[in-house]
Amino acid sequence: MTVKSGKSDKDFSIYFQPPSYKDAKKRGKEDIEVLYDFNIPVEMKEFGQGKRYMIRTYGCQMNEHDTETMKGLLEQLGYTSTEDKQEADVILLNTCAIRENAEDKVFGELGHLKHLKIEKPHLVLGVCGCMSQEEGVVKRILQKHGHVDLIFGTHNIHRLPALLHDAYLSKEMVVEVWSKEGDIIENLPKKREGMRAWVNIMYGCDKFCTYCIVPYTRGKERSRRPQDVLAEVRDLARQGFKEVTLLGQNVNAYGKDFEDLTYGFGDLMDDIRKIDVPRIRFTTSHPRDFDDRLIEVLAHKGNLMEHIHLPVQSGSSEVLKKMSRKYTRERYLELVGKIKAAIPDVVLSTDIIVGFPGETDEQFEDTLSLVKEVQYDFAYSFIYSPREGTPAAAMEDNVPMEVKKERLQRLNDAIATYGKEGNEKLRGQIVEVLVESESKRNSEVLSGRTRTNKLVHFTGPKELIGSFAHVLVTEPQTWLVKGELVEKPLQISI
Ligand code: SF4
Repeated sequence: MTVKSGKSDKDFSIYFQPPSYKDAKKRGKEDIEVLYDFNIPVEMKEFGQGKRYMIRTYGCQMNEHDTETMKGLLEQLGYTSTEDKQEADVILLNTCAIRENAEDKVFGELGHLKHLKIEKPHLVLGVCGCMSQEEGVVKRILQKHGHVDLIFGTHNIHRLPALLHDAYLSKEMVVEVWSKEGDIIENLPKKREGMRAWVNIMYGCDKFCTYCIVPYTRGKERSRRPQDVLAEVRDLARQGFKEVTLLGQNVNAYGKDFEDLTYGFGDLMDDIRKIDVPRIRFTTSHPRDFDDRLIEVLAHKGNLMEHIHLPVQSGSSEVLKKMSRKYTRERYLELVGKIKAAIPDVVLSTDIIVGFPGETDEQFEDTLSLVKEVQYDFAYSFIYSPREGTPAAAMEDNVPMEVKKERLQRLNDAIATYGKEGNEKLRGQIVEVLVESESKRNSEVLSGRTRTNKLVHFTGPKELIGSFAHVLVTEPQTWLVKGELVEKPLQISI
């Protein structure tokens, strides 16, 4: 691919092998290596001395965690962080490709940063994350945003020190995006802050839901070895973290790619629950791979939280088929029934897309009736937006926007009703809260989460931030509950 970068004419194809749908579907299980020998080259260790970095993160927790890794790498190079872009010598935008408006935000930000780059020519401006795995995005940056110095993909994060070095020395845009599925690189430094930590247990996704770009941007499913995950969680326990969230695009597929051992997500959770971390969560689940072994382990509770995010996407089996979700409405409800039977106080949340191409009124009603049946405590709802290169983008999108908006409104009203009802059940109960911060709107009020991931606001001393408190729920609302701090009771609710 030869493109005009805004800085020069150059053949970028040597750096950029864009992921392709056809090739991605053919991918095999070979070629994944686990590498344990990551090191910052000695000559790079002082590279960032006296310089500052800023990373802006968009999208999911996977991106948040990638940002922690990039911060760790930059700090090992001697950089320090800043939140003021005027002070920054390096600005990285860690982007999200999952929806069109996420991409629009990034292009808007790139437009604003152009002025800063003119004022500060030595500034290195980089774009990374899922958007940089899309060929169309990279072309657009090369053609219209010549002030960007560096583009790198999700499989190239460990190359950040070398890429930064190149970006400082080169007068041309440095682009390195590999379509290769990526190895597993252990021992990358991470800068973790606060009392909650994320741990990747696997990378990539092989589900190929027809609307989703992730199998192309994040590569094929590859699980970290159990001993590496367990060692990381033990280390976090030693450091005193209060909550660990296990991350993967489809955590339930953990271990399916192991050829030398039979060890799945349920086995991993069974081992992790024996580690002394007060709270363990995981995200995201795929209903298709959610098995009985996992339900049996989660039913032990203890440090395994009784909140499960179980994306359904639609309540219509026909739509689910077009989405290639690989389960039916009935199968999903059966799974919900099993989970509720094993964990009666479980809180379920979900993701739902409305207005998928061809979705009829009747099929949308199926979604509403499923929401009613499951009674989610919260849900993320979206209007379908096509992602270039995915199979759904080629389907006829015949649902008018006003119909989509009206469906979204009806769905949100239903979700709000069940959310309020779920919170109402907590009235008069004492809940255990991990106190995270002051509330954004009122510094007198503290904000934290219950075991079931419900947001709690209460008045209390700031010293409680980072620890557990017990709160009597006095005022349940739709999206949060308000309460009063109490002494630790003999018996607590969820
Ligand atoms: S399982 Fe999730 S990440 Fe994978 S293709 Fe489907 S929606 Fe995308």
